[in-house]
Amino acid sequence: MSGSTSVVLLYHRMGLPKLGSLVAGQYVSPRLFRSQLDYLNARDWAGGTLSETTDSSIIPDQDRFAVTFDDGYRGVYEHACPALTDRNLTATIYVVAGSIGGINDWDRRAGDQSEPMMTAGQIRELADHGFRIGSHTMTHPHLTELTDEQLRAELANSKHVLEDIIGTEVAAFSYPYGDYDNRVLEEVVAAGYSSAVATKLGVITLGVRAFEIPRVNVRWNAIGPLLMRKINRARKASGLAK
Ligand SMILES: [Zn+2]
Repeated sequence: MSGSTSVVLLYHRMGLPKLGSLVAGQYVSPRLFRSQLDYLNARDWAGGTLSETTDSSIIPDQDRFAVTFDDGYRGVYEHACPALTDRNLTATIYVVAGSIGGINDWDRRAGDQSEPMMTAGQIRELADHGFRIGSHTMTHPHLTELTDEQLRAELANSKHVLEDIIGTEVAAFSYPYGDYDNRVLEEVVAAGYSSAVATKLGVITLGVRAFEIPRVNVRWNAIGPLLMRKINRARKASGLAK
């Protein structure tokens, strides 16, 4: 069937918004998350891994989605991962390697509420249960603002820290704030990653670049029809007719 859609969904926090949070829209309630998975399933969308979903050389015969989480908040471990496992689904989780077992220091510096991050044990457990762990740098900087040396350290050190925890290669990367340019992209390739996700709205099209994978940012209010409307906006943004 032509006209099928492959999309990578982007989530951040799981739970009820904290009072005074600067990014209240990033909190998705566990109940809404489960309902989104069931909504897609009921409409015959197949959940897959990031690499299955973004392989543009395969022409899918079915609409497909992959779930990704940026940052590595503990609420994702507590609420989202069990909901995925219950449904035989998986996800890629991009972890800020310098904040493991701590809090979201980079958000705090910007004045946001603190949130607990996953511990090393939780990350290992998820990897052992088939979740893919990716890097989201050490300190969540704007990568385009770093010196070459700082940039390389963020990319290499986070990869090593995470590989030490899970005992296998970490090859997936996510740009903090979706901030990258050609220099950053080339360093991500040179550091040994095999893919990178961005925050630009879009779906997977033929020829999508492995280091510029577009996503659909899912926010607090995206009940089924709203989620579908956003996916349709992403299709248009990628040059596909609705
Ligand atoms: Zn982030």
